[in-house]
Amino acid sequence: MIANYGYKDGSGEFFISIDTAKCAQCEAKPCVEACPEKILVIFTDDYDDEVIGVKEEHRKKIKYSCGPCKPITEKRNLSCQKACPSGAIVHSW
Ligand code: SF4
Ligand code: SF4
Repeated sequence: MIANYGYKDGSGEFFISIDTAKCAQCEAKPCVEACPEKILVIFTDDYDDEVIGVKEEHRKKIKYSCGPCKPITEKRNLSCQKACPSGAIVHSW
């Protein structure tokens, strides 16, 4: 399943999409520790699989929570994507 976390407003669409089927197969879940802002969390989904998601408190401000990884004038450095061995995390912006 693809789980989407985020929002859209007049300035754009800001979603993190996570392929939870891949996360269920990923024991180490390195993305969680790799995220410098600690916005990712491990939880058990409806299928009893351990997957990751975005913490509730960041979902409506994800553009800003992920801001440090996406500087406007410098190269982007998405630690979550770099840490993921299977390309399970996609950002819409
Ligand atoms: S590293 Fe990738 S596959 Fe593993 S839990 Fe994180 S997003 Fe899912
Ligand atoms: S872009 Fe940065 S802050 Fe956002 S989830 Fe990935 S590692 Fe964490």
